[in-house]
Amino acid sequence: MWCKSCSRETNSETCEICGNATEQDTPIMIYWCNNCKTPIIKSASRIDKNICPLCGKGTSYLCADLRPVFPEERLLIEMLTAKPFEYINKTVWAADNRYYIDGESKMIPISAYKKRSANKIMELLEKYKDQNSYDVFNQTIDKFIKANTERLHYIFDEATEFIRDTAKAYPSENIVISFSGGKDSTVTADLTVRALSNPNLVHIFGDTTLEFPLTIEYAKRFRENNPKAIFKTAKNKEQDFYEVCEDIGPPARMLRWCCSMFKTGPITRVLNSMYRDRDILTFYGIRKNESVSRSKYNRVENNAESVKIQKQKVASPIFLWKDIDVWLYILSEGIDFNDAYRLGYDRVGCWCCPNNNERAQLLSRIYMPEQTKKWREFLIDFAVKIGKPDAEVYVDSGKWKARQGGNGIAAAEDVKIKFTNCATEDNAKVYKLNRLVDDSFLSLLTPFGKVAKELGRKLINETIVLDIKTNVPILSVQPFSQDGYDYAVKIKTMNVAKHDDLQRMVGYQVRKFNACRKCLKCESLCRFGAISIIGDEYRINESKCKHCKMCVTAKYLEGGCLMDKYLKTKE
Ligand code: SF4
Ligand code: SF4
Ligand code: SF4
Ligand SMILES: [Zn+2]
Ligand SMILES: [Zn+2]
Repeated sequence: MWCKSCSRETNSETCEICGNATEQDTPIMIYWCNNCKTPIIKSASRIDKNICPLCGKGTSYLCADLRPVFPEERLLIEMLTAKPFEYINKTVWAADNRYYIDGESKMIPISAYKKRSANKIMELLEKYKDQNSYDVFNQTIDKFIKANTERLHYIFDEATEFIRDTAKAYPSENIVISFSGGKDSTVTADLTVRALSNPNLVHIFGDTTLEFPLTIEYAKRFRENNPKAIFKTAKNKEQDFYEVCEDIGPPARMLRWCCSMFKTGPITRVLNSMYRDRDILTFYGIRKNESVSRSKYNRVENNAESVKIQKQKVASPIFLWKDIDVWLYILSEGIDFNDAYRLGYDRVGCWCCPNNNERAQLLSRIYMPEQTKKWREFLIDFAVKIGKPDAEVYVDSGKWKARQGGNGIAAAEDVKIKFTNCATEDNAKVYKLNRLVDDSFLSLLTPFGKVAKELGRKLINETIVLDIKTNVPILSVQPFSQDGYDYAVKIKTMNVAKHDDLQRMVGYQVRKFNACRKCLKCESLCRFGAISIIGDEYRINESKCKHCKMCVTAKYLEGGCLMDKYLKTKE
């Protein structure tokens, strides 16, 4: 345990000196040996933290985390702020925009990337590429590995033990490695296969369709290099990212609809099809240090937001690792990795994600000029469409990432639940639909009970829904015509204590009927596999539905459909 305020280690949950709550892990820090010109990773509690294990000389504190700068990125920063190859004989490391050249800190501001056109930079990179060399870089890395062997052994042994311990209760076929093509999952896969001495483990690669081309190439190499691994790709082939963006707007920081549609949804589908109700354990590469929101995760989770299927436990062997630990492992073990890191990306996910930092965007302008141009043009058209006065500025300044809700988007009409109270009957509402009542509408009422078409009055095309326990009718449903509504349905609640509660949940299903964009959230949400979205159809399987009502409860699905949040407008 570690007390942040006193910078000291203790065995207790509260610090004996200051009384503050302690943290589970002792922080590690990066020191610099100016004699060996290498970073040294040491725990803050070590007495010898200021001594270089290679030469025995004193070191000084450098920073909290660090990544290696590969020769490709080095050439780029030379291009931006110095002369080509000015640093070729020096050691270069970085943390975000801050570079450490032979241990001297140098900020490379975002503006440096903007001074020259992306085309010009690419042209220069091409021109000098062949003269670039890995010689000094390789020596730098050799030294880095030697200076940090102790750290490497420690993190490797600790992770290995964690994996073996966590995996004990699972047969090996129920162990899954989540593989994204990033460095963290690369390390997680390698550690897990080694710890369990099992090259045949299941790897699931989530291809969001928004991957860097280099990620796809790497995934292909990974597959070839690990021929025994069972490698499954989870990909939503039914939807086109740009088409959905046209319809409901591009993702923004608060509107990340694509995560369900292209990432977690497809992975959940694959897991469900492979394992159904079996207990599984997934190893993934989440790290506490990655972001504030992730730091509240635990190393092993049974019910995290990321755990989408019923009986899945997720565990991260590298939960406490820093970037530099991940690189120490990759480089000393000589593991293949995604080449995007050589170019200077510090994380690889979807290339157009609104969560990417500005530096990553600027790198994409250089290395993915066509995609970036197409995306920018799309964003500008969209900004015009939703009535932004200065569309280009709105896009280039990054304001598009802060968009909220569906203002200006036609699809926003679909999430509004429009109804009138029936004039002649109590507890009956007439809802506006955007197409005719059909079987798929009736299927949406399954969570409430047994949908019985045969019990309704034929003359008015009525359907009755019976309470599942008592067999008492609780809903009457009939297609209706109403002034001002092209299509409508009248729904009356009966024999229940709380009519409003039931009507509210019915309203959610009306919203689903009108607004579902097949984001796959409902499919992932239902623990009983009762909901399936096939082609254009949203179906609830009557024989699988356990009437748990999660899919109609705001706590689990706000507004009954994710689109409510993504398309909500301010009046
Ligand atoms: S672009 Fe961002 S928000 Fe969308 S799926 Fe990718 S990571 Fe998630
Ligand atoms: S109803 Fe809404 S939340 Fe459910 S799958 Fe369709 S779009 Fe997603
Ligand atoms: S979440 Fe699944 S089981 Fe529960 S009510 Fe909805 S469809 Fe039925
Ligand atoms: Zn203290
Ligand atoms: Zn030294």
